[in-house]
Formats: sequence, structure tokens, C-alpha cells
Amino acid sequence: MRPRILYTPFKPVTNLKGIGARIAKGLENFVGTRIIDLYWHLPNGLIDRRYAPNIAEAETGRIATLTVSIDKHIKPPHKRLPYKVITSDQTGSLVLVFFHARSDYLHKTLPEGEIRVVSGICERFGQELQMTHPDRIGTIIEIDQLKTIEPVYPLSAGVSLKVLSKAIGGAMSHLPKLDEWLNPSYLKKNNWKSWQDSLFEVHRPLSLKDLEPKAPARRRLAYDELLANQLALSLMRLHMHKSPGRGISGDQSLQKKAVALLPFKLTPSQLKSCEEIANDMASNTRMLRLLQGDVGSGKTIVSLLAMLSAIEAGTQSVLMAPTEILARQHIETLEPIAKSVGIRLQLLTGRYKGRKREAILENLKNGSIHLAVGTHALFQDDVEFKNLGLAVIDEQHRFGVHQRLSLTSKGHSVNVLVMTATPIPRTLMLSAYGDMDVSRLSEKPAGRKPIITTKLNLNMLEEAIKGVKRQIDNGARAYWVCPLVDESDVLNVAAAEDRHRALVRCFGNKVGLVHGRMKGIEKDKVIDKFATGKINVLVATTVIEVGVDVPEATIMVIEHAERFGLAQLHQLRGRVGRGSEQSYCLLMYQAPLSATASKRIDILRETDDGFVIAEKDLHLRGAGELLGTRQSGLPNFRLVDLEAHSDIIETARDEAKLILSKDPDLESERGKSLRTLLYLFERDAAVKYLRSG
Ligand code: ADP
Ligand code: MG
Repeated sequence: MRPRILYTPFKPVTNLKGIGARIAKGLENFVGTRIIDLYWHLPNGLIDRRYAPNIAEAETGRIATLTVSIDKHIKPPHKRLPYKVITSDQTGSLVLVFFHARSDYLHKTLPEGEIRVVSGICERFGQELQMTHPDRIGTIIEIDQLKTIEPVYPLSAGVSLKVLSKAIGGAMSHLPKLDEWLNPSYLKKNNWKSWQDSLFEVHRPLSLKDLEPKAPARRRLAYDELLANQLALSLMRLHMHKSPGRGISGDQSLQKKAVALLPFKLTPSQLKSCEEIANDMASNTRMLRLLQGDVGSGKTIVSLLAMLSAIEAGTQSVLMAPTEILARQHIETLEPIAKSVGIRLQLLTGRYKGRKREAILENLKNGSIHLAVGTHALFQDDVEFKNLGLAVIDEQHRFGVHQRLSLTSKGHSVNVLVMTATPIPRTLMLSAYGDMDVSRLSEKPAGRKPIITTKLNLNMLEEAIKGVKRQIDNGARAYWVCPLVDESDVLNVAAAEDRHRALVRCFGNKVGLVHGRMKGIEKDKVIDKFATGKINVLVATTVIEVGVDVPEATIMVIEHAERFGLAQLHQLRGRVGRGSEQSYCLLMYQAPLSATASKRIDILRETDDGFVIAEKDLHLRGAGELLGTRQSGLPNFRLVDLEAHSDIIETARDEAKLILSKDPDLESERGKSLRTLLYLFERDAAVKYLRSG
């Protein structure tokens, strides 16, 4: 249960004075619906009103706060002309200009014969110094509140800065006073203030420097968020380790048979990963391991060997893929091996319904199926296993999926192996997975030639088609990726269909088309034709990005490469270069290229090392975007800037570990404050792992 002291921050914004349903609606999409969302909405600029010259010295074009006496109101002769208020000080005169003015209101705020403070931008028209619609008007007593620095917030249509500032001011007046959760010496070392003071400081920037992620107050808040994140991840991990593993170790009988069937030798890093996995599974703690390897690095076989070992030990294994296509591909790869070694393999996806599904569920439950491959359908509530020993989750680049699945209760001490093709920079990995054990496939299987990557202006399209045709006529197979038109599927499909028609004119019936709006079965049919060589050109939207494995394909053409992100281009290119033949990637671009687009293309031409590409991508884009926006599985940070704050991620990880080693259930005084921290950053789910949580 959320601690009482946090009740107010989590109430709807409409609880604040002056915030009604209309403003709340305006805030909903870009700030949030609760008071706490206002805390986290940080300023991105400021207005400095401290410049307070006299009229004669006032610079034009700059915000000034002037103390003037109100001399005279001049009503315009007709409505289209502005209303003017003549003011002055000892050095000169200043005309305040108002359009569509209400005279009674202006007489009230600017009474003739009195002194007022006005703040806004001065401009000169001929001889006249003017201020059009002052931002602020006040009495001389209020001058200190006017001559200040005001924060500027990111805005969106329908909510003005004034309204938002007021809402944030209101929220801040309800800021609870929370007990410190950080180590006092660490606070001191960084010169950080308390959480409350830091939040106030962040909302009251005094200079542009205060707006940077490096500013102490911002760093403190980011650290709080990181610590909450790392605590939650560590708790999840501790919990998994607490449920004891059961020392699964097979006799290698199946493994040996399978290895003997492979037409290749395992690479050193494949062997090493197999060993690391075997050790984890044999130990008494539950395995939670990430198998990281670039596209084509050979993760599947490593996972197969692990699954066979679990089966040798008398348990069942599952392999979960992010898409139907991928699940089917896994089945195809595994089927011959499963047959030869004599185990029962079964596919289960959302497409299985009714009787067929029931029969499969029955066989999973009675244990006659040894290895199940499927999509998330495998993790539905009614799926039961007789004795599940190992779950392999193939995330491809849909990184972070495991977090939603690893905790499912499909068996208490199920070992979990997560496979990811996303070369995740260390900082991101820490924040998404915590301190997970990692095995890494660092080299590509032997015999692979680096892909030759070239760029070509789109006005050379005909030449490109001719070049591809020559290769196709010699039996090559090519992917042709259509431009990403926009986020809309419909338009992307239209673009792909156009390109398909055009290519059919050049290549005849050797061309097939797949796109995201086709039915799964249709899609599979076309891909199958391509895989078996019945067609040679596969025109596609980015659906092929996720795991199509046709080792015979050697050409990848990407139209409008400038519209794709670096990671996406890398994934797409990874569809070729999977066999022993020389492969080519042709990046077609529309000139002129923007500086970043040009950089992206150059990086791809320079390297095919996924880790190098991921690090560069992080620099070019920033973390949020890196893995494809919201679906990425990255934790939803409000205050952390993964790049700017990368140096404190590891500190937060270490501190979380230390805290939990001393106080595993967060029961000490500091532990209690840390519980509040978890709630503050909505890591409530982790609290349930605490005793008396
Ligand atoms: P990914 O890591 O992208 O999942 P896969 O496991 O699909 O990669 O492997 C890609 C291709 O490489 C497959 O066709 C697989 O049979 C092959 N492969 C795997 N390991 C080796 C190896 N050690 N030597 C040669 N080819 C290999
Ligand atoms: Mg794979």
C-alpha cells in the first residue's frame, strides 16, 4: 500500500486550486493526470526579469522590468487601433500598448496618477518607446515578485505557460516532506540537497546552467529515479534467486547427438556461452541470463543445446519468440534436430484454437511434449506444464519483453534465458535489466564475409535495378525494402505495392511482396517461396526486420535509407550476409542528406559491429529513441537522461545491491524511506517482494 504521505501527490490535478476539468484535459497528454506528474515536468527555459533600467536606458528587444508612473489613458478613435497608456519616469516616457483592450480593466490595473511596475519587451517605434501587452503588471510593493527569473516549461496546445506555471506552483505547495533515503555522505560528496529542496531548485532555475542535466539538483533527482529502478530490479532478482533452482544437469546424451548433426563447428563464444548456461542451470539458484549476440551470430543453437540439457534432466523447455514468423522459423530449424535426437517438439501460437489448442495444452500438462516453441500464447494463464525447467525468450530487438514474462508462475524455479539481438550499450542494459548475467556471442560464425555496403542517390534507381537484375539472373536472392513513408501502415503498404508493381515489370514473376497488413499465413507463404528460391526478390516493408532467416539471400536494397534509424538499418542489413557467399547492402537515399542521416549512413558503411553501432546511435539520438520509442521496453524514466546521467547508473546499481545486502526487506529507518522512494517512482510492483511489503 502506498504510504499515506504520498496520497496527495498521486491525486488528480483537479484537486489543485484553480485546475478544473478543462485544464486537466489539456495537461493530460503532455504532463499527466496527477499532481506528481507536475513535479516531474521540468522547465526547459527561463525568463529573466531582473533587468530593471530606467526608461532612457532600456534596451529594446530585451525583457525589462520598469517602474513607471501612469500619466494618461488614450482610448483609440476606433476599435482596430490600439489602446495606449502613457507612462513615464524621470528619464523619459514609455507607451503601453493594448489591442482589444477593456478600458475598465486597464483603468483598474493601471490607475492614472499612480506608480506601477511593468515587465515585458520594449520596442521603439519612431521616437516612441513602447511595450505591447506587458507580461506582468504590479504595484511597487510587488516589485520583488516581478523582478525575478521565471521558469519556462515545455508546452502544448491549449495550455499557456501562465496556466501551467500556476498548476506547478500549486503542486509544489503540496510537496510532502519525505525522510532522506540517500546516504548522507554520498549527498555531501555530491553537494546535493534534500529531495524537496532539489525539486524546488529544479523548478526555480537561476541560470541556463541550472537547466542542464548536469546541474546538481537535476542529478540528484535523476539519481533518485535510478536508485528506485535499480532497487526494483535487484529485488526482482533476489526474489528469483530466493526461489531455489533445482540443479538441472543433463547427461549430455541429447546434446552430443545434436552437435554431431550440425554442419558446422561451434564458435569459441558459442561454446563459452553454453558452458556458462550449463553452470547456471546446474547451480541451486535460478538462472536469469541474457544471451546477447548480433543478428546471425548463432544464438538459436546455443539456446537449443540449453533446452536439450533441460530435457535430458527430465524437465520441459519452452522457446518464446516475439512474432509468429519467428516462432515458425525456430520450429523449422529445430524440427530436423528434434526428430533425429528423438524429442517431441510442438508449436503453439495464437492461431491455434479450439480442439487443437486443447490437445496441445493437454500434452504440455502431461509432459509428452518436451519442447514447446511459440509466441506469448505460451504464457497464457491456462497453459500448464508438467515440469518446466527452462524458458528461453527470444526478444530479437524487442528488448525488455522478459520483464513482463520472467515472473510468470509457470513453474517456481524455471530458469530463464533471454536472447537479444539488440546490441545494448551497457548503460541501457543496466537500467533495463539490472545486473543480469550476460553471455555474449562476440564473433560471427566462421566463413562469413563482411557485407559490402554502398550508398547510392535515388536518382540512380534505374542503374540499381539493372545491377540487381544481373545478379538475380545469376540466381541471387534480394530483399527490397520500401521506404518508410510515415507511421501509418496504410501508406507504407501503398508504397510497397507500388514498388512491387514496378519491380514485377523488370523482374517478372520472380518478385513477391510482404507487408504488415497481410495475414500471417499469407505472409508466411510468400516468405517460404523466397526461402525455397521459388521467387528471387522479396519486396517488403520493415516486417522483415524481425527475424527472417534466408541464408541464400545476398542482396539488401533499402530505399530512402535516410528515413530509417541506425539500429533499424543495422537490423535490416543483418538479413543478408548469413551464408558463405559475398553479400551486398545498397542504401539508396534522397539528396540532400541531413547531417545526421549522412552520419548514420557513413557509420553503417564503416562498421558492422552492432555494439559500435549501438553506442554511436546512442550519441546521435539519445536513449529514449534508441530502440524504437515506447515499445522498446526501456524503463519509462521521467528525470533520467540515460546519456547525460550514464555515470551514475552504475553507482545506483552498486548502492541498491549494498542496501539490499544489509537490509533485504527494507526494514531499517532508511529502508522505510527507500520504500517510499519505490512508491514515489511507481516501482510498487517491487514492494511485493519485501517481507511485510
Ligand atoms: P541469431 O543469433 O540471429 O538468432 P541464428 O541462430 O539464426 O542467429 O544463426 C544464423 C545462422 O548461422 C543459422 O543459419 C545457423 O545455422 C548458422 N550458424 C550458427 N552457428 C554457426 C557456426 N558456429 N558456424 C556456422 N554457422 C552457424
Ligand atoms: Mg535468432
